Amino acid sequence: MLVDSHCHLDRLDLSHCGGSVESALQQARSRGVSQFLCVGISLEQLPAMMAIVDQYDDVHASAGFHPLEDMSGGLDTDKLRSWASDRRIVAVGETGLDYFYAKDSASDQQKHFITHLKVAAEVNKPVIIHSREAREDTIDSIKNYAGSAAGVLHCFTENWGMAKRAIDMGFYISISGIVTFKNADALREVVKKIPLERLMVETDSPYLAPIPHRGKPNQPAYVRDVAEYIAELRGIKLELLAEQTTANFQRLFF
Ligand SMILES: [Zn+2]
Ligand SMILES: [Zn+2]
Repeated sequence: MLVDSHCHLDRLDLSHCGGSVESALQQARSRGVSQFLCVGISLEQLPAMMAIVDQYDDVHASAGFHPLEDMSGGLDTDKLRSWASDRRIVAVGETGLDYFYAKDSASDQQKHFITHLKVAAEVNKPVIIHSREAREDTIDSIKNYAGSAAGVLHCFTENWGMAKRAIDMGFYISISGIVTFKNADALREVVKKIPLERLMVETDSPYLAPIPHRGKPNQPAYVRDVAEYIAELRGIKLELLAEQTTANFQRLFF
């Protein structure tokens, strides 16, 4: 059984998934996906997201404020803390640093990231981290503020040095469909090195559809394509990869 460890069910292009979230989930289940983590990107949109999540026993949720969202309104720490304490919320995030798309807002991103890390430590839940072209700052913030909170670097595209440092701090590395892209040779080398007991798979749907679906809106069912690709890359059976990544997901979030 597989898990899609990172998807945005409230943002799916439903016309590509059979018309409803239910049919998107059904398609995924029929390809062996047994659990889904629907990741929050804005506290404002969280109630609407939870209205979807609450309908399904196999869908879990996180609460956070994405570094690429509009930050002009600031981050309400009490609201984040209150959501993070909700029993339906299994993790804090996504949060993090994206200097590739938004170097301009770096200082706000850092402030928000630190708040998420502190809240995660307070409520003793893992943190879901988005990090692009911000390796040193991401690792330093984890080191200084995550306390005992572990977590996952999601949609990982950075180098082995960063992966190794995160793993050494108890973190997991989640790989998306980017690993299937033609120009992802460097990432493929990293993916071969990640210890199996620290690896997860995700779609980050509706973004980043893996080959052979590239160019179409992504959906949770495609996590199987990501998993098949990684299993082949590492020369192991899909069953083993599925079993191990699912066990990792359980260990981190439950
Ligand atoms: Zn992300
Ligand atoms: Zn995401």
